[in-house]
Amino acid sequence: MEKNNSVKDPLRIAAVTFLVLVALLICYGAVRKNLSRKAEANSAPRYIFLFIGDGMGNSHVAAAESWLSWKKGQNGGEQLLFTTFPELAMMSTYSADHQVTCSSASATAFSCGIKTNNGFIGAAPDSLPAESFAKGLHEKGYRVGIMSSVPINHATPAAFYAHQTDRYGYYPITLQLPASGYEFFGGPGFAEFAGRNGDEEPSDVFLERNGYTVCHGPDELRSNMDKPNLVFCDASNRGRSADEYSLDYDSTRTPIADILRLNLEYFGTEEPFFIMCEGGEIDWAAHENSVYPMVQAILRFNDAVAVAYEFYLSHPDETLIVVTADHETGGLAIGYDYSWHQSVQDWAAVEADWAEQGHRDTFGIEERLRRQNSWGFGWSTNEHTGAPVPVYAIGKHAERFNGRIDNTDIPRLITG
Ligand SMILES: [Zn+2]
Repeated sequence: MEKNNSVKDPLRIAAVTFLVLVALLICYGAVRKNLSRKAEANSAPRYIFLFIGDGMGNSHVAAAESWLSWKKGQNGGEQLLFTTFPELAMMSTYSADHQVTCSSASATAFSCGIKTNNGFIGAAPDSLPAESFAKGLHEKGYRVGIMSSVPINHATPAAFYAHQTDRYGYYPITLQLPASGYEFFGGPGFAEFAGRNGDEEPSDVFLERNGYTVCHGPDELRSNMDKPNLVFCDASNRGRSADEYSLDYDSTRTPIADILRLNLEYFGTEEPFFIMCEGGEIDWAAHENSVYPMVQAILRFNDAVAVAYEFYLSHPDETLIVVTADHETGGLAIGYDYSWHQSVQDWAAVEADWAEQGHRDTFGIEERLRRQNSWGFGWSTNEHTGAPVPVYAIGKHAERFNGRIDNTDIPRLITG
């Protein structure tokens, strides 16, 4: 017996060792798989859209939905696409030096995750440059697209590629665009096209000299899709500044939804991407306390969100869409001298007045405000306010956009 056992023992030990090794290998494989699944789950979404409705507070969104409902003969019930997204957060917007932020400080919070002073772009309160999370994604192989319905060197888009302490130095902002290396920029054009006094190198010449192909209109852009870095400008804006409009929206302009479509066509899906898309004229109309063009601006912005949503439907597990605002503008209230016996918003009068004025606001601020009040809209200021703004999200990691957040949280919530 003893002899037999001593013969079998080495065999038994070898068998047991083999089985233990196999078990360990299986466990190791499972743990590795689990870890990589976790890493995948925590990683930034492959396709990221950040929509910024400049100045678009809760009441602005409510006004747009009120108008949509009125069009259907209802007091309410109609929704913009982005308010149907499953996740909703409320966001504080104060800046480093003011309770009420300006667009540049809030866009710097979105881009760099820091509080800075009003007027600063991509720079910390000590004036040193701050790094955008878009730049970080770009270094990891993401393609980056930055676009706006107002000039490409305005505060909100600028905070994603420039570093300045004066948001109104438009030309110096343009000069910092090529250093970003981002693949796509889009908008009507550039403010201070040839510098503040018009005696500098024109923006398009400068950009072409620094590695970008400047395309005027969709056709020109489509014929240059093989080029590495593109800037889209409106054909109607060739060779001049793009900051000459606000209330009387020029219908010859390429809608922001179309610019986004062109950007997506250019990027394709081979590489991951981050796109920031701003509805800038929402803020401009709100500064003028004019509800009709403000609502139309939100509808155009919503059209752009619809383009991203269509993309999301084809790539639901890899896409994140975030829609928010940098601050509230105008202190808008839905209702003024409200009475139980009358309908609150007189949209019929709003529309009739707008058509009568030839689709531009011809009144001075006092008369405009008096009319807005009589139609059921209250405005408390021509400037921004410190009211919190909504954040809507759908797609990968959208659940992070929930509850009370701050504008500096945006980069961390997007990239994880
Ligand atoms: Zn503003």
